[in-house]
Amino acid sequence: MNHYNLPFNEKFADPLPITSIVVKVASRCNIQCTYCYMYEHADQTWRDQPPLMSEVTIQRLAFRLAEYAEARNLKRLLVIVHGGEPLLIGAKGLSYFFETIHKAFNSQSTEISFGIQSNGILVTNEIIKVVQSYNARIGISIDGPKQWNDIARVDKKGLGTFDRVMASVDKLRNPDQGDSVFGGFLTVANPQIPAKDLFEFFDGLNTPAIDFLLPDYHFDTYPFDKFPPGTFGNWYSDLFDVWLSSGSTLRIRSFQTLMKLVLGGKIGYDALGSMAHGVLVVETDGTYHALDVLKTAYHGATQTGKSLTNDPIIDLEMLPLVLALTNKKSALNEKCLNCELIDICGGGYLPHRYSKMHGFDSKSVYCTDLQILINHIRERLSTELASIHFAKERI
Ligand code: SF4
Repeated sequence: MNHYNLPFNEKFADPLPITSIVVKVASRCNIQCTYCYMYEHADQTWRDQPPLMSEVTIQRLAFRLAEYAEARNLKRLLVIVHGGEPLLIGAKGLSYFFETIHKAFNSQSTEISFGIQSNGILVTNEIIKVVQSYNARIGISIDGPKQWNDIARVDKKGLGTFDRVMASVDKLRNPDQGDSVFGGFLTVANPQIPAKDLFEFFDGLNTPAIDFLLPDYHFDTYPFDKFPPGTFGNWYSDLFDVWLSSGSTLRIRSFQTLMKLVLGGKIGYDALGSMAHGVLVVETDGTYHALDVLKTAYHGATQTGKSLTNDPIIDLEMLPLVLALTNKKSALNEKCLNCELIDICGGGYLPHRYSKMHGFDSKSVYCTDLQILINHIRERLSTELASIHFAKERI
């Protein structure tokens, strides 16, 4: 155990490289979603962060990324431009960001790619042009149809954001010039919306990709009366069935990853599977942080004490909160380590394992849900594969 209240199992202390860097180019937001993990939970360190990342910090970041890519001989590196609301940096700032990082990788073989995760409201033609120039994509956060989205995704006056977001999605898909830069949606799972309705809403928008995220609850915040254990597992299972039967080309990251893991794949991502490539967060002041959703646990939960100024990224790989997301067995409690689903589930998402009483030394608060969903996908795949086998025998 260490001061993060994380179990530590040295046998698994062999990190995978960090291949995704989440860069907080803005530490503030133009809207005020009621559930936001940045501002509405235990951690309030955003108050001490500069509102925007400075040009000097962007230059240091570019140097550290190139240094790390070379040290780890990375084939690919994904830079996710994040916030707060990243588009607060403006078209000029975004262009400087992309250009500076691109230049640092000029003489490297690492393929660098950019993604932006935004609430969409500040999209302009100038921003779209910059995004097109660097072949990036903008993913948009939205929680489904207007009557559901506008409950929690509201602006600072409490007004729903749906209409403004959808107008921006239209701009991203149909820019004045050039190709679409729309990357897809990120949405928070809501079992109050029938899974079929939500799937049809997104599929009807010709969405290329989507992920349905579990709400950022842990043991001290989960609403057990509203959503008894199993509610999310059953809802996701319904969604999986609707998706699989639809023949849609819509990519759903969590389902695709779970199918791969059920079929014996080894690498998941931060929320699923026992092995994943690493994620590191850089805040606007140039300090390194662990996964930002850990801000739901306690004040200062993501702090590493290291920064772009003083520390190469490779030194972060072995920090407990970073290692806990790559070789996850290094930081799992006994129940998860002995669970038959461990290589598929990986103990779920680290922030969901937290409680004041036990720190991160627990199974996921979504354990029942994860079991229901994984077993459902297993059964569904084995039925599908058996029917293919049966049909082949008759050809
Ligand atoms: S969270 Fe539950 S299902 Fe997942 S590995 Fe731990 S015990 Fe198993």
